[in-house]
Amino acid sequence: MAGNGQPDVHQAARIAMVETQLRSRGIRDQRVLDAMLAVPRHEFAPPHYEGRAYGDHPIPIAESQTISQPYVVAAMLEALEIRPEDNVLEVGTGSGYQTALLAELARRVHSIDRHATLVEQAGPILKRLGYENIALHVGDGSQGLPQAAPFDAIVVAAAAPQVPPPLFEQLREGGRMVIPVGSPYGQELQLVRKHQGQMLISRQEGVRFVPLIGEEGFRAG
Ligand code: SAH
Repeated sequence: MAGNGQPDVHQAARIAMVETQLRSRGIRDQRVLDAMLAVPRHEFAPPHYEGRAYGDHPIPIAESQTISQPYVVAAMLEALEIRPEDNVLEVGTGSGYQTALLAELARRVHSIDRHATLVEQAGPILKRLGYENIALHVGDGSQGLPQAAPFDAIVVAAAAPQVPPPLFEQLREGGRMVIPVGSPYGQELQLVRKHQGQMLISRQEGVRFVPLIGEEGFRAG
């Protein structure tokens, strides 16, 4: 049953998504799997996409943006090793889907998007679902969010030409960042750790994200 007392017709789809797309491909972190079971992905999809919201693919949203494929979202969250006491920054709110997952995993979530229209759509959905540990911001997230730093974890949901220095600066010692780095046409997911002030990078899978547009990202157009 969903929180509003209506039977959740999407729950079976969510269980199948977790088993066939996530667990079978090696996602092991039980907190991540539980969050992916809990968050109603269909609530963040455009109405005509609701029936396909749990499919093994990205979902197009407004402003030519996308919600990432469930596996990619889960792989990023697993790599971040988020703890319940963590303060987290998400760059690229988009639909708010990944924001909700972060809110299940962390103490506090700050999420920023350059498109006010997307933030204005995501806010009421997140509120209706009952999340109270999320603050949404409009602006250039390639420069981070200094007023809410330092962060234990940063997830960048858009492709960057390199790790933006302000984001690395705003990581706490021991903090983790996941970010797709490369060209606008293809990137590798990088896991960045701050260890004794130094940047340690481990390279993960190949991915394709929409570009990070901003001061420390790509130029618009
Ligand atoms: N995580 C989202 C998907 C994000 S798509 C979800 O679950 O739905 C990438 C998002 O990054 C887009 O919404 C885009 O507007 C945003 N974006 C691109 N450049 C940005 C920047 N410099 N600062 C903040 N957001 C940015």
